[in-house]
Amino acid sequence: MTKFSAPSDAVARRAVAPVICYPTETLPQPDLALYRAAREGATKTGEVLVRARDALCFEVPAGHFFRITSVGGPQVGDLNLWNRSDLSERFYSGKTRALHGTHITTGDRMWSSFPHMRPMATIVADTLDWYGVDPFGGSVHDVIGTRCDPYTGNLLAGTQYHHCCHSNLTRALADHLRIPLTEAEPHVHDVLNVFMCTGFTRDTGQYFMKASPVRPGDYLEFFAEIDLLGNLSACPGGDCSSEHSSDVASCHPLLVETFAPEEGSLSGWESPAPSGYDRTHGR
Ligand SMILES: [Zn+2]
Repeated sequence: MTKFSAPSDAVARRAVAPVICYPTETLPQPDLALYRAAREGATKTGEVLVRARDALCFEVPAGHFFRITSVGGPQVGDLNLWNRSDLSERFYSGKTRALHGTHITTGDRMWSSFPHMRPMATIVADTLDWYGVDPFGGSVHDVIGTRCDPYTGNLLAGTQYHHCCHSNLTRALADHLRIPLTEAEPHVHDVLNVFMCTGFTRDTGQYFMKASPVRPGDYLEFFAEIDLLGNLSACPGGDCSSEHSSDVASCHPLLVETFAPEEGSLSGWESPAPSGYDRTHGR
């Protein structure tokens, strides 16, 4: 392949300062103080325990909370979200990344797909927010990975492994909605990698993972902005320190708990409306 030589002004071109693609000053900000006050008087409404190398669905009404907790040992979770009454509205990992960056934490939202594009959930607590960015450029809770899947494993190693997050999420959705696997699979989408520690290598720009700093008791908690159907997979990668797509890694369950706010504690809050774009696309 041809490798082109640098132009005479290469240094000047590289020295151009970057600008943020989507400055977030005009993003509607969540009222975290209101959410916190509502959470304080909230009561637990249910829980599901997601078994290792498996997934489970859960439902969260708008205005309620859900918490994902590490139990038993370091474990990464792959999270999908849908509008509970319209599966075509689902979590949009790429747009969430464009708006909030590669990793999300308290105050950031999980945005939904076009043409809805509204906050589906807002992170209200993150016990790993102390981690920041490590010397390798790694951080936790990324929206850069996709989800481990059997197709990539088959492409790279010729394997037939059935407990990747993609398959776990597919089985759980099929069971929850009582639909065939083939109908459920297209609804599975790129995830929020809960507790996963990832980044891009500085020299080659490759996606990397490293052992998650999560410990039992750590949690990530969300406020549901719309009625949600959630689906969480306890990744076969365990803490994702070495590999996923096999049964080799040590894996643990993940706990999902839901909470209802105290009556009247969310006064003034309204579930966000879908995007105001008129969808005429120039015609
Ligand atoms: Zn996975």
